[in-house]
Amino acid sequence: MAAAEQILEVEQLKKYYPVKKGLILQKEIGQVRAVDEVSFALYRGETLGVIGESGCGKSTLIRMLIGLEKPTGGEIRFLGEPIEKGMPASLRREMQMVFQDPYSSLDPRMSVRRILEEPLRIHGGMSAEQKKQVILPLLEQVGLPREALKKYPHEFSGGQRQRIGIARALALKPTLLLCDEPVSALDVSIQAQILNLFRDLQRQYHLTLLFVSHDMSVIRYISDRVMVMYLGQVMEIATKKELFEHPAHPYTQALMRAVPVPDPERQDQCAVLEGEIPSPIHAPAGCPFSTRCPYASELCRRQRPQMRPVGEGHLTACHRYSEEVAR
Ligand code: SF4
Repeated sequence: MAAAEQILEVEQLKKYYPVKKGLILQKEIGQVRAVDEVSFALYRGETLGVIGESGCGKSTLIRMLIGLEKPTGGEIRFLGEPIEKGMPASLRREMQMVFQDPYSSLDPRMSVRRILEEPLRIHGGMSAEQKKQVILPLLEQVGLPREALKKYPHEFSGGQRQRIGIARALALKPTLLLCDEPVSALDVSIQAQILNLFRDLQRQYHLTLLFVSHDMSVIRYISDRVMVMYLGQVMEIATKKELFEHPAHPYTQALMRAVPVPDPERQDQCAVLEGEIPSPIHAPAGCPFSTRCPYASELCRRQRPQMRPVGEGHLTACHRYSEEVAR
């Protein structure tokens, strides 16, 4: 079988924010490392789920990919072109985003017709009839009636608004869809409908998805591969099967234990992660998880672990595992 085509490559990506003190002089007293030396690749047609608690850097990562934040350092290649300093005009339509909040991401003054026509207008070259030919099937594919075109965002429920947001993102037939917690603001029953919609549309449009969520059940349902982040760094990356059957990193293991499962025999149901996430201003010097990890050693507190292979396509950043391998 031919190797899957790599469409996005991220190398040592960083986003540091200065921490300043003083009303007038604004002296820099430190840095928040929102994303710190993150590397991964994305293959055509797959869904890479990115999971982590609030503040792990997953949303900042997605905002750098789409160009809403400038990286402090590192490289991003999309369809073979470097984009960390800005997306070339020829590639802009190829990467689109679905936002977390379906309430604030749609302009309340615009009808659904105008919202869906907007990306087609920006990228130009289409007659009114051609735009209609794009918009009507899209509306049907996201499960909205034709009459929706005349209405305004406030006339729809949260789930319906997210369907409009998805249709807008697909209007240009992008290669890659970046999804930033797109179901977290929705009721659980609606979440399932929208996740199924993503799956159906992915098949129809041959889409590649980067899907960010803090919810392990959502990530398990939607992903082909999973990347686990903590305090701006990647802790583990693997296929979904490998990650759920053989989680290697203590943080991933703790996240798994926190997911409820329908098994009354299981003693560790909903085990909550011990301790608080450290302030990103005072992040630990060595392994970022060392303040909460039951296996933390002197080495962990001193030296940052590097990503190492622990299985086929399975990498993790943990001294414990590399020590075991070395034994
Ligand atoms: Fe725990 Fe050390 Fe592994 Fe970090 S490197 S997860 S502190 S064992």
